[in-house]
Amino acid sequence: MNDRIEAALSELRNQIDARVSSYFSSCVHCGLCAEACHFHVETGDPRYTPIYKLEPMRKLWRQEHTLSGRLGKMLGRSSGPDERDFADWEELVYDSCNLCGRCSMVCPVGIDITYMLRKQREAFYLSGYTPDGMQKALQRTLDIGSPMGVTLKTLKATLAHVEKASGLTIPIDCEGAEYMALFSSMEVVNFPEYIGSVTRIFDAAGLSWTISSEAFEATNAGIQIGSRDGAREIVSRAVNAAEQLGVKYLISPECGHAYTAIRWEGPNLIGRPYKFKVIHILELLEQLQREGRLKLNGKSDTPMTLHDPCQIVRRGGVVDPPRNLLHQVASGFVETTDHGSMNFCCGGGGGVSANERAEELRLRVFGRKKKQFEESGVNTVVTACANCRIVLEEGLEHYEMDTEVIGLTELVAEYLEQGID
Ligand code: SF4
Ligand code: SF4
Repeated sequence: MNDRIEAALSELRNQIDARVSSYFSSCVHCGLCAEACHFHVETGDPRYTPIYKLEPMRKLWRQEHTLSGRLGKMLGRSSGPDERDFADWEELVYDSCNLCGRCSMVCPVGIDITYMLRKQREAFYLSGYTPDGMQKALQRTLDIGSPMGVTLKTLKATLAHVEKASGLTIPIDCEGAEYMALFSSMEVVNFPEYIGSVTRIFDAAGLSWTISSEAFEATNAGIQIGSRDGAREIVSRAVNAAEQLGVKYLISPECGHAYTAIRWEGPNLIGRPYKFKVIHILELLEQLQREGRLKLNGKSDTPMTLHDPCQIVRRGGVVDPPRNLLHQVASGFVETTDHGSMNFCCGGGGGVSANERAEELRLRVFGRKKKQFEESGVNTVVTACANCRIVLEEGLEHYEMDTEVIGLTELVAEYLEQGID
């Protein structure tokens, strides 16, 4: 056995905690998770059955944590995962899983398959079985501060455009502000209109807010690839900046996994609670609207539907705010067939959109979103994640669909009336 496979087995062994062990021993092999996963549903390929994507980890668990496996090993009849398994499963672990959590919703015995997939990714990452594109995105974040190479200079150039267009000043490094906003690189580069929208909304609502020049990036490539150290470092930067500025709230932007990272995983990653609260932009907008600080005027009568970002809605619990906000600004809002916590992923989550190797499969699997949008009968899709937005636009273009994608925060800003009385 070579050093690399020894290391991979050792890392995989470390990931098999009591929770993973109890999940494997509870599986009744019903196959229901297969019907929940868009990779399986759209391709019909049994290899894309969610629990099967965990086969290397299951093999090792069976060999080392069950009586039959241990006896088999003693008699030379039970084999654990080998080099071939790691090489073959790298594609299943990274290319054919968005860590979207839909499979976990249907398992009759409550197995959180996504939790196990993330644990397996940690072992694959530590032993070097990872896609090149995702590795580079993590390295750029650690070196430069952004997976797309966005620097403070780039951000400032974008902010200058927003300030010129809005006539407003965007506060940077304001100690004692109540809120600190994070952005994703994709918003800075592809959707600066999001930054313009929050600037206008916060100004109208009289919000005391700031951006930190030390940490403005919300995207966490460590969470996606399975690097705990990387994820911890990225979260720490935002936490340290927020605590230095003394803010009460940190605003997670329209980015799915960023919310998972900073809201749900962060305190465990850094080993302590924060001195501030994390709030998602949609929760904040809904709160401002409830308090009468976000005043809206008029509604769009364009029929539109909602794509739920998995990490914000299903895994993050922000289910009602996008709907409540949409009803405020759109009279023709209709739900897709599977919606809310059971919506399908855009196909680009979990780092798949950063993994060039996975592009063909991702576009094939987008067939599920295509069907959903066709069934909804509308040509406008609203979402609240910059990554979903890019992936949806690419998929719609690939299938030559005449469907527009818009960001929810921008839609809300479009119907902004005025600030506080
Ligand atoms: S987390 Fe999503 S993409 Fe991954 S196996 Fe489960 S349903 Fe499929
Ligand atoms: S749905 Fe749950 S019990 Fe059924 S095969 Fe999948 S993981 Fe096992």
